Amino acid sequence: MKEKVNLLLLPGDGIGPEVCNPVKKIINFLNNFTNIEFSVEEDLIGGSSYDKHKVPITKNVVSKANASDGVLLGAVGAPKYENLPFDLRPERGLLKLRKDLDLYANIRPAKVFNALADASSLKQDIVTNMDIVVLRELTGGIYFGEPRGIFNLNDGQRKGINTEVYTTNEIIRLGRIGFEIANLRNKTVHSVEKANVMESGVLWREEINKLHSAEFDDINLKHMYADNCAMQLVKDPKQFDVILTGNLFGDILSDISAELTGSLGMLPSASLGEIGESKKRKSLYEPVHGSAPDIAGKNIANPIAMILSLSMFFNYTLKNNILSKLIEDAVEKTLENGYRTKDIMQDGRNLLTTTEMGDKVIENLKILLEKNEL
Ligand code: NAD
Repeated sequence: MKEKVNLLLLPGDGIGPEVCNPVKKIINFLNNFTNIEFSVEEDLIGGSSYDKHKVPITKNVVSKANASDGVLLGAVGAPKYENLPFDLRPERGLLKLRKDLDLYANIRPAKVFNALADASSLKQDIVTNMDIVVLRELTGGIYFGEPRGIFNLNDGQRKGINTEVYTTNEIIRLGRIGFEIANLRNKTVHSVEKANVMESGVLWREEINKLHSAEFDDINLKHMYADNCAMQLVKDPKQFDVILTGNLFGDILSDISAELTGSLGMLPSASLGEIGESKKRKSLYEPVHGSAPDIAGKNIANPIAMILSLSMFFNYTLKNNILSKLIEDAVEKTLENGYRTKDIMQDGRNLLTTTEMGDKVIENLKILLEKNEL
């Protein structure tokens, strides 16, 4: 019996459709060569949705996303939509999707493929074999907390306020995902806050400690202040496995760890919510990069971030870490064989188009699958 999987594919704008094409080919390939039967529905988001429906995402697409086993998204945005009212801009489609699915856990892996270790801004030996996941709380904290706003004061000054707020439930539901991810990896969680100066950080630390002793005491839990974590990331990033943190600190720390890998075109992400209609966690998988209008339509974009987003879907939604790892290994092998897209090109390597890079990954995936006899 084949495992049936319903995927909603939203290629979006700019290079989105181009980087989704190799993923569609990989899915077709897996339909033929594994015991998984994908049924893929494709729809519109961002500018492409605005062009047809005059909104960046329709209710119909949101309900399809809710009913699916997972959503794969390319990218949204293009200069031609920049003068639209804020609510109609392509990016609002993505924000609405994240909000309506209540995707509160944002997972950003930062893995250095050894073939590209010299692209990092740090010395090669510091980043070789680096493999970190930053788990960022996405729907709470200071970006959403009340009170917020800019207020006039009696003495003529103005006051800007944002409020860092976390409840027990928000901390625990994210913490649980963090420990679960660590359990699939190297079993270490660094919980990051500023408990030295913030009460919300004290609560964060207490709740993570409670959850750890109640359910995950086989995971190695360490606490670290956010400023120290930023410093440690550029000093000795290999000490980290899973970094578990709130919205604001996660925003900053995930960008630092992304930069350590040296290439935007290589970085996937996942956002997870509660268990949905499909009995799986609601989920959205997408590259970290945007729609790259400067290179759109040229078939030169790097599809690896998108391909690795599919690999994350296998890991986090289907709990199939064998296929997830095989896709990652196929990417690694392709890089080791010297194939590069323009953004990661190095002397003496072979330059490929988006399509060719996808095809090379599939070639290697086929070899690896045959060895694994799945
Ligand atoms: P961007 O990520 O699109 O591009 C930044 C730079 O990286 C560009 O030079 C681009 O050519 C390059 N780049 C990005 N992805 C690449 C890939 N796969 N292969 C090769 N090179 C790649 O960011 P930006 O230029 O700030 O934004 C462009 C548009 O994308 C804007 O409309 C923005 O709002 C939107 N955006 C969307 C998302 C998203 O869909 N999640 C994220 C960020 C930005």
